[in-house]
Amino acid sequence: MILNNKVAIITGSTRGIGNAIAKRFIKEGAKVAICGSKLENAEQAITKMAQEMNFSKDQVLPIGIDLTNTESIKKMVSEVIQKWGKIDILINNAGITSTSSLLDSQDEDFYNMFEVNVFGLLKTTREVVKYMKDTGGSIINTSSMVGINGGRNQVAYASSKFAVNGITKSLAKELGQYQIRVNAVAPGVVETDMMRDSVDENLKQRLQAMTPLAKVGNPNDLVGAYLYLASDEASFTTGTIIQVDGGLVM
Ligand code: NAD
Repeated sequence: MILNNKVAIITGSTRGIGNAIAKRFIKEGAKVAICGSKLENAEQAITKMAQEMNFSKDQVLPIGIDLTNTESIKKMVSEVIQKWGKIDILINNAGITSTSSLLDSQDEDFYNMFEVNVFGLLKTTREVVKYMKDTGGSIINTSSMVGINGGRNQVAYASSKFAVNGITKSLAKELGQYQIRVNAVAPGVVETDMMRDSVDENLKQRLQAMTPLAKVGNPNDLVGAYLYLASDEASFTTGTIIQVDGGLVM
Protein backbone atom coordinates (compact mmCIF):
# COMPACT_ATOMS: atom_id res chain seq x y z
CA MET A 1 0.00 0.00 0.00
CA ILE A 2 1.60 3.16 -1.28
CA LEU A 3 0.24 5.54 1.44
CA ASN A 4 0.46 3.26 4.48
CA ASN A 5 0.00 5.28 7.70
CA LYS A 6 0.17 8.62 5.91
CA VAL A 7 -2.22 11.22 7.33
CA ALA A 8 -4.14 13.21 4.74
CA ILE A 9 -6.52 16.16 4.88
CA ILE A 10 -8.71 16.38 1.78
CA THR A 11 -10.97 19.42 1.63
CA GLY A 12 -14.23 18.96 -0.26
CA SER A 13 -14.08 15.17 0.16
CA THR A 14 -17.75 14.51 0.90
CA ARG A 15 -18.51 14.16 -2.82
CA GLY A 16 -17.14 14.52 -6.34
CA ILE A 17 -13.43 14.50 -7.06
CA GLY A 18 -12.40 14.80 -3.39
CA ASN A 19 -14.47 11.78 -2.38
CA ALA A 20 -12.95 9.63 -5.14
CA ILE A 21 -9.46 10.63 -3.96
CA ALA A 22 -10.38 9.88 -0.33
CA LYS A 23 -11.64 6.37 -1.15
CA ARG A 24 -8.48 5.46 -3.06
CA PHE A 25 -6.18 6.94 -0.40
CA ILE A 26 -7.94 4.88 2.29
CA LYS A 27 -7.48 1.73 0.16
CA GLU A 28 -3.78 2.62 -0.04
CA GLY A 29 -3.53 2.69 3.77
CA ALA A 30 -3.88 6.42 4.46
CA LYS A 31 -5.76 7.98 7.36
CA VAL A 32 -8.03 10.63 5.90
CA ALA A 33 -9.86 13.67 7.30
CA ILE A 34 -13.08 13.71 5.28
CA CYS A 35 -14.02 17.39 5.07
CA GLY A 36 -17.27 18.94 3.93
CA SER A 37 -18.87 22.29 4.49
CA LYS A 38 -21.02 20.67 7.24
CA LEU A 39 -20.11 17.95 9.77
CA GLU A 40 -23.27 16.00 8.96
CA ASN A 41 -22.27 15.87 5.26
CA ALA A 42 -18.92 14.41 6.25
CA GLU A 43 -20.56 11.85 8.52
CA GLN A 44 -23.03 10.85 5.81
CA ALA A 45 -20.21 10.53 3.27
CA ILE A 46 -18.34 8.16 5.61
CA THR A 47 -21.48 6.07 6.15
CA LYS A 48 -21.88 5.76 2.38
CA MET A 49 -18.21 4.90 1.89
CA ALA A 50 -18.49 2.17 4.54
CA GLN A 51 -21.26 0.56 2.47
CA GLU A 52 -18.96 0.47 -0.57
CA MET A 53 -15.62 -0.60 0.92
CA ASN A 54 -13.87 -1.90 4.04
CA PHE A 55 -11.82 0.33 6.30
CA SER A 56 -11.15 0.68 10.00
CA LYS A 57 -12.95 3.40 11.96
CA ASP A 58 -9.58 4.82 12.95
CA GLN A 59 -8.79 5.55 9.29
CA VAL A 60 -11.31 8.37 8.93
CA LEU A 61 -12.21 11.58 10.72
CA PRO A 62 -15.34 13.51 9.68
CA ILE A 63 -14.90 17.27 9.73
CA GLY A 64 -17.21 20.19 9.01
CA ILE A 65 -15.20 23.16 7.79
CA ASP A 66 -16.11 26.56 6.39
CA LEU A 67 -13.20 27.70 4.28
CA THR A 68 -14.37 31.30 4.53
CA ASN A 69 -13.84 31.20 8.30
CA THR A 70 -10.27 31.28 9.67
CA GLU A 71 -11.27 29.89 13.08
CA SER A 72 -13.01 26.94 11.43
CA ILE A 73 -9.83 26.16 9.46
CA LYS A 74 -7.69 26.32 12.62
CA LYS A 75 -10.14 24.01 14.44
CA MET A 76 -10.01 21.50 11.58
CA VAL A 77 -6.22 21.31 11.62
CA SER A 78 -6.06 21.00 15.40
CA GLU A 79 -8.63 18.16 15.35
CA VAL A 80 -6.46 16.24 12.89
CA ILE A 81 -3.30 16.82 14.95
CA GLN A 82 -5.13 15.77 18.10
CA LYS A 83 -6.29 12.50 16.51
CA TRP A 84 -3.25 11.47 14.49
CA GLY A 85 -0.37 13.75 15.63
CA LYS A 86 0.89 14.72 12.16
CA ILE A 87 -0.17 15.76 8.63
CA ASP A 88 1.69 14.21 5.68
CA ILE A 89 -0.64 15.21 2.85
CA LEU A 90 -2.91 18.21 2.27
CA ILE A 91 -5.21 18.22 -0.71
CA ASN A 92 -6.75 21.65 -1.24
CA ASN A 93 -9.61 20.39 -3.37
CA ALA A 94 -12.76 22.21 -2.18
CA GLY A 95 -13.93 24.88 -4.55
CA ILE A 96 -16.86 26.76 -5.99
CA THR A 97 -17.57 27.85 -9.53
CA SER A 98 -19.82 30.33 -11.31
CA THR A 99 -20.77 31.25 -14.83
CA SER A 100 -21.33 34.93 -15.48
CA SER A 101 -20.18 37.51 -17.98
CA LEU A 102 -17.97 40.30 -16.66
CA LEU A 103 -20.74 42.88 -17.14
CA ASP A 104 -23.29 40.76 -15.26
CA SER A 105 -20.92 40.11 -12.35
CA GLN A 106 -21.44 41.77 -8.97
CA ASP A 107 -18.64 42.66 -6.54
CA GLU A 108 -19.75 39.78 -4.28
CA ASP A 109 -19.26 37.27 -7.11
CA PHE A 110 -15.57 38.14 -7.23
CA TYR A 111 -15.16 38.23 -3.46
CA ASN A 112 -17.01 34.95 -2.83
CA MET A 113 -14.97 33.12 -5.45
CA PHE A 114 -11.63 34.26 -4.06
CA GLU A 115 -12.75 33.81 -0.45
CA VAL A 116 -13.12 30.04 -0.99
CA ASN A 117 -10.87 29.09 -3.93
CA VAL A 118 -7.90 31.29 -3.05
CA PHE A 119 -7.99 32.70 0.49
CA GLY A 120 -9.45 29.51 2.01
CA LEU A 121 -6.73 27.50 0.29
CA LEU A 122 -3.99 29.86 1.47
CA LYS A 123 -5.24 29.90 5.06
CA THR A 124 -5.58 26.10 5.18
CA THR A 125 -2.08 25.69 3.77
CA ARG A 126 -0.59 28.17 6.25
CA GLU A 127 -2.22 26.35 9.16
CA VAL A 128 -1.06 22.92 7.96
CA VAL A 129 2.50 24.04 7.19
CA LYS A 130 2.94 25.06 10.86
CA TYR A 131 3.00 21.29 11.56
CA MET A 132 4.17 19.87 8.24
CA LYS A 133 7.41 21.88 8.27
CA ASP A 134 8.80 19.56 10.96
CA THR A 135 8.17 16.36 8.99
CA GLY A 136 7.99 17.31 5.30
CA GLY A 137 4.99 16.37 3.20
CA SER A 138 2.99 16.83 0.05
CA ILE A 139 0.49 19.58 -0.75
CA ILE A 140 -1.69 19.18 -3.83
CA ASN A 141 -3.98 21.94 -5.07
CA THR A 142 -6.92 21.30 -7.37
CA SER A 143 -6.68 23.79 -10.21
CA SER A 144 -8.64 23.58 -13.47
CA MET A 145 -8.14 23.62 -17.22
CA VAL A 146 -9.59 27.16 -17.18
CA GLY A 147 -6.71 28.09 -14.87
CA ILE A 148 -4.48 27.38 -17.88
CA ASN A 149 -6.58 28.47 -20.85
CA GLY A 150 -9.14 30.87 -19.33
CA GLY A 151 -12.86 30.44 -19.81
CA ARG A 152 -15.53 32.53 -21.49
CA ASN A 153 -18.06 33.86 -18.92
CA GLN A 154 -15.89 32.34 -16.22
CA VAL A 155 -13.54 35.20 -15.42
CA ALA A 156 -13.99 34.97 -11.64
CA TYR A 157 -13.50 31.20 -11.52
CA ALA A 158 -10.69 31.17 -14.07
CA SER A 159 -8.76 33.94 -12.32
CA SER A 160 -9.10 32.10 -9.00
CA LYS A 161 -7.56 29.00 -10.60
CA PHE A 162 -4.75 31.03 -12.21
CA ALA A 163 -4.09 32.22 -8.66
CA VAL A 164 -4.02 28.60 -7.47
CA ASN A 165 -1.33 27.85 -10.05
CA GLY A 166 0.70 30.88 -8.89
CA ILE A 167 0.36 29.79 -5.27
CA THR A 168 1.50 26.28 -6.23
CA LYS A 169 4.70 27.48 -7.88
CA SER A 170 5.46 30.15 -5.26
CA LEU A 171 4.99 27.77 -2.34
CA ALA A 172 6.98 25.03 -4.09
CA LYS A 173 9.89 27.50 -4.08
CA GLU A 174 9.28 28.66 -0.50
CA LEU A 175 8.54 25.33 1.20
CA GLY A 176 11.13 23.10 -0.48
CA GLN A 177 13.47 23.98 2.40
CA TYR A 178 11.17 21.93 4.67
CA GLN A 179 10.95 19.01 2.20
CA ILE A 180 7.36 20.02 1.51
CA ARG A 181 6.42 19.43 -2.13
CA VAL A 182 3.66 21.58 -3.64
CA ASN A 183 1.96 20.56 -6.88
CA ALA A 184 -1.39 20.94 -8.59
CA VAL A 185 -3.76 18.87 -10.68
CA ALA A 186 -5.72 20.68 -13.40
CA PRO A 187 -8.81 18.63 -14.27
CA GLY A 188 -10.72 19.01 -17.52
CA VAL A 189 -14.47 18.42 -17.59
CA VAL A 190 -15.36 15.92 -14.88
CA GLU A 191 -18.81 14.49 -14.18
CA THR A 192 -19.66 15.82 -10.67
CA ASP A 193 -22.41 17.93 -9.07
CA MET A 194 -20.33 21.02 -9.83
CA MET A 195 -20.09 20.15 -13.51
CA ARG A 196 -23.79 19.34 -13.78
CA ASP A 197 -24.61 22.77 -12.29
CA SER A 198 -22.41 24.68 -14.74
CA VAL A 199 -22.32 22.65 -17.99
CA ASP A 200 -25.56 21.90 -19.85
CA GLU A 201 -26.02 18.84 -22.08
CA ASN A 202 -25.35 20.83 -25.24
CA LEU A 203 -22.03 22.21 -23.96
CA LYS A 204 -21.08 18.78 -22.60
CA GLN A 205 -21.53 17.24 -26.09
CA ARG A 206 -19.41 20.00 -27.66
CA LEU A 207 -16.64 19.62 -25.07
CA GLN A 208 -16.68 15.87 -25.58
CA ALA A 209 -16.28 16.35 -29.32
CA MET A 210 -13.29 18.67 -28.77
CA THR A 211 -11.54 16.21 -26.43
CA PRO A 212 -9.01 13.85 -28.05
CA LEU A 213 -10.09 11.02 -25.73
CA ALA A 214 -13.71 11.82 -26.74
CA LYS A 215 -15.33 11.74 -23.31
CA VAL A 216 -15.83 13.77 -20.17
CA GLY A 217 -13.93 12.53 -17.15
CA ASN A 218 -15.11 10.54 -14.19
CA PRO A 219 -13.74 11.51 -10.72
CA ASN A 220 -11.86 8.18 -10.67
CA ASP A 221 -9.97 9.22 -13.83
CA LEU A 222 -8.19 11.88 -11.72
CA VAL A 223 -7.20 9.82 -8.74
CA GLY A 224 -3.94 8.42 -10.16
CA ALA A 225 -2.42 11.90 -10.51
CA TYR A 226 -3.19 12.75 -6.87
CA LEU A 227 -1.92 9.36 -5.71
CA TYR A 228 1.38 9.84 -7.52
CA LEU A 229 1.90 13.38 -6.21
CA ALA A 230 0.98 12.39 -2.64
CA SER A 231 3.28 9.37 -2.57
CA ASP A 232 7.03 9.08 -2.10
CA GLU A 233 7.20 8.07 -5.80
CA ALA A 234 7.03 11.84 -6.46
CA SER A 235 9.85 12.65 -4.03
CA PHE A 236 11.66 14.91 -6.58
CA THR A 237 8.54 16.50 -8.06
CA THR A 238 7.47 19.96 -6.95
CA GLY A 239 5.96 23.04 -8.59
CA THR A 240 4.25 21.06 -11.37
CA ILE A 241 0.70 21.32 -12.64
CA ILE A 242 -0.48 17.99 -14.01
CA GLN A 243 -3.29 18.31 -16.55
CA VAL A 244 -5.82 15.48 -16.46
CA ASP A 245 -8.29 16.48 -19.13
CA GLY A 246 -8.38 13.85 -21.87
CA GLY A 247 -6.13 16.12 -23.94
CA LEU A 248 -8.65 18.97 -24.13
CA VAL A 249 -6.08 21.64 -23.29
CA MET A 250 -2.78 21.50 -25.19
P1 NAD B 1 -18.27 19.43 -5.97
O1 NAD B 1 -19.15 20.63 -6.03
O2 NAD B 1 -18.84 18.09 -6.23
O3 NAD B 1 -17.48 19.39 -4.58
C1 NAD B 1 -16.99 20.57 -4.00
C2 NAD B 1 -16.64 20.31 -2.56
O4 NAD B 1 -16.15 21.54 -2.00
C3 NAD B 1 -17.84 19.88 -1.70
O5 NAD B 1 -17.45 18.82 -0.86
C4 NAD B 1 -18.15 21.13 -0.87
O6 NAD B 1 -18.66 20.83 0.41
C5 NAD B 1 -16.78 21.78 -0.74
N1 NAD B 1 -16.89 23.22 -0.48
C6 NAD B 1 -17.42 24.18 -1.28
N2 NAD B 1 -17.39 25.37 -0.65
C7 NAD B 1 -16.84 25.17 0.58
C8 NAD B 1 -16.55 26.01 1.70
N3 NAD B 1 -16.84 27.32 1.71
N4 NAD B 1 -15.99 25.44 2.79
C9 NAD B 1 -15.69 24.13 2.82
N5 NAD B 1 -15.94 23.27 1.78
C10 NAD B 1 -16.51 23.80 0.68
O7 NAD B 1 -17.09 19.77 -7.01
P2 NAD B 1 -16.00 18.90 -7.78
O8 NAD B 1 -16.35 18.93 -9.20
O9 NAD B 1 -15.71 17.61 -7.09
O10 NAD B 1 -14.77 19.92 -7.62
C11 NAD B 1 -13.65 19.70 -6.79
C12 NAD B 1 -12.55 20.63 -7.27
O11 NAD B 1 -12.24 20.34 -8.63
C13 NAD B 1 -12.90 22.11 -7.21
O12 NAD B 1 -11.79 22.85 -6.75
C14 NAD B 1 -13.19 22.45 -8.66
O13 NAD B 1 -12.96 23.81 -8.95
C15 NAD B 1 -12.23 21.54 -9.37
N6 NAD B 1 -12.57 21.24 -10.77
C16 NAD B 1 -13.70 20.56 -11.09
C17 NAD B 1 -13.97 20.30 -12.43
C18 NAD B 1 -15.21 19.54 -12.87
O14 NAD B 1 -15.47 19.48 -14.10
N7 NAD B 1 -15.96 18.93 -12.00
C19 NAD B 1 -13.10 20.74 -13.43
C20 NAD B 1 -11.96 21.44 -13.06
C21 NAD B 1 -11.69 21.67 -11.72
